[in-house]
Amino acid sequence: MSPARPADLKAERKAEVIAVRSIARPSPKEAEDAVRVLLRWAGDDPDREGLLGTPERLVRAFDEWFSGYGVDPIDLLQRTFEETDGYDEMVVLRDIRFESHCEHHIAPIIGRAHVAYLPRKRVVGISKLARLVDVYAKRLQIQEKMTAQIANTINEVLNPIGVAVVIEAAHHCMTTRGIHKASATMVTSRMLGAFRTDPSTRREFLAMIGNTASAQPSTV
Ligand SMILES: [Zn+2]
Repeated sequence: MSPARPADLKAERKAEVIAVRSIARPSPKEAEDAVRVLLRWAGDDPDREGLLGTPERLVRAFDEWFSGYGVDPIDLLQRTFEETDGYDEMVVLRDIRFESHCEHHIAPIIGRAHVAYLPRKRVVGISKLARLVDVYAKRLQIQEKMTAQIANTINEVLNPIGVAVVIEAAHHCMTTRGIHKASATMVTSRMLGAFRTDPSTRREFLAMIGNTASAQPSTV
């Protein structure tokens, strides 16, 4: 993947926001009715006692699982700090656990993200990096897109010397259905700036995240 130009990113994000806003949100009642249809599709009776509250609970769970649509990732990173006393070393936040859902099956994607950047001038509160991962995780996703979105957003807002994002995750659409490969994890990465062009920077980052990608596939 070649890094997109900032202008492209802004246009892309604008189109995304417009697309999401233009979708009329159904009422909770409509959403609950849809769940009742799926319960019948599964072969059960939505009117039996144990399932009576399920549509309401699932609709509320959706609010949490997909809360990322309500947060603007650019706004989230907007508050940056410039007084860094000349700190120009790598900032790495590793092992950020996340839960997402694949856009093909709405099945969980459970994994960890490692995020790094080389500040040019501006740094951001470290918890914001974890929040950024969540904003994109709490949407319907494919892992490749999520990896690129996180890296591109940091690149756009902080304008750093480089950004690196590595994500390793288990896809439940693959572990619990389909080909049932329970221990397989998928690893994706997006390297921008110095992480892309300078092998020693990339090596330093990979050493800092401890090559977890290949070492412990079963711990995610
Ligand atoms: Zn899937």
